[in-house]
Amino acid sequence: MFFLPAALPKSLTAKYLVILVTTFAVQESHALLARLFRLKSLSSLLLSQIDCAMLPRIYEKSPAELVQWCQEQGLPTYRAGQIQQQIFPNRATQFGEMTNLPAKLRELLAATFTLLPSEVVAHQIAKDRTEKLLLQLHDGSLVECVLMREDDRRTICISTQVGCGMGCVFCASGLLGLKRNLTTGEILEQVLRLDRLLPADEKLTNVVVMGMGEPLANLKNLLPALDRLTADDGLGLGARRITVSTVGLPEKIRELAQTGHQFNLAVSLHAPEAELRTKLVPVNKNIGIEAVLEAADDYFAITGRRVSYEYVLLGGINDLPEHARQLGHLLKSRIAHVNLIPMNGVKELPFAEPSAPQTGEFVAILESFGVPVTVRKRKGADIDAACGQLRMKREQQNLVVLKAGPQP
Ligand code: SAH
Repeated sequence: MFFLPAALPKSLTAKYLVILVTTFAVQESHALLARLFRLKSLSSLLLSQIDCAMLPRIYEKSPAELVQWCQEQGLPTYRAGQIQQQIFPNRATQFGEMTNLPAKLRELLAATFTLLPSEVVAHQIAKDRTEKLLLQLHDGSLVECVLMREDDRRTICISTQVGCGMGCVFCASGLLGLKRNLTTGEILEQVLRLDRLLPADEKLTNVVVMGMGEPLANLKNLLPALDRLTADDGLGLGARRITVSTVGLPEKIRELAQTGHQFNLAVSLHAPEAELRTKLVPVNKNIGIEAVLEAADDYFAITGRRVSYEYVLLGGINDLPEHARQLGHLLKSRIAHVNLIPMNGVKELPFAEPSAPQTGEFVAILESFGVPVTVRKRKGADIDAACGQLRMKREQQNLVVLKAGPQP
């Protein structure tokens, strides 16, 4: 604010005004310049961050593409193998750590690619040492993945989509619908981040593709990721240690069988007859139980792998003795295994966990048909372990998130 002194002679008033206006203009222009400068540096900062986030993950490239990239840069092709070694078994978290590579190459890699670009917005650790990561991707999408420890097993559960379009009525993942498919790199980053939670003397032993989304609806991006898990210059996991869980998309089940890998297939059946299944798993309406079972039979015929049927027990809805008998009839002549999953409570959903005696009776009936059955143990019960729960919670909190845990 500027005030004109009242007692100033008239001749001086004009001068004073000129000085005042000039001073004001200079001050303002300085402020303006400073503001512009701040804006410019802010925008270049933002641009550099966006640039960095937009660089591709190096493992979006297949091993063959990485070899080709090395050739294009005039590098010896063995560098591609060294890079893979650093990404997978060596668990590098930055290109700078890849000290088996020349410094110039490390710089080139950092200017061309990213390694672990998503942000860990939550890292929960349960009493049973189950760990869950919530990752935020460049577009703000949230993805969950889990590490479970049991005896000498180190199993991870990964997601393939942001949300899910299948609409299973008891599942938190589908509550907000499908946002998009994850890329191969986004699928692999979950594996790499969970692998890096393990101490140096422990290795991942199993992978279950049972997180958010329908894996077979994103087979195109999932298969190259699975290839990297099984490859000798990747994680070197046996295909039999990898399980893909599906709502039951017949043609995609056959496509998975044709890959020549012996992945385990888990089919989410959840009901022994069409009407009830359609109520619980709406996509069943256009597919039907028979088509799902036939595709699963083909999967067994082609791969020789026994198919698992997942069956979430919803108290009073699909866990009655008659349901167990119907399921027994359906599976008794098949080489199959039933995985009973007690409903994992989701606050927004009106389904109850099954009672223990009811579950026991269900198991006994299935066994009387000669169908092998296990009841899945709950892991990480104290950390929003059901798929999609944590993301759901965060979406509801409108991304007001608490950072915790390591950020490799
Ligand atoms: N779309 C795939 C992967 C889904 S998640 C599929 O349908 O198989 C893996 C398993 O967890 C599926 O069998 C799914 O139906 C089940 N599931 C989802 N929400 C659950 C909940 N709240 N309680 C128990 N199991 C659940």
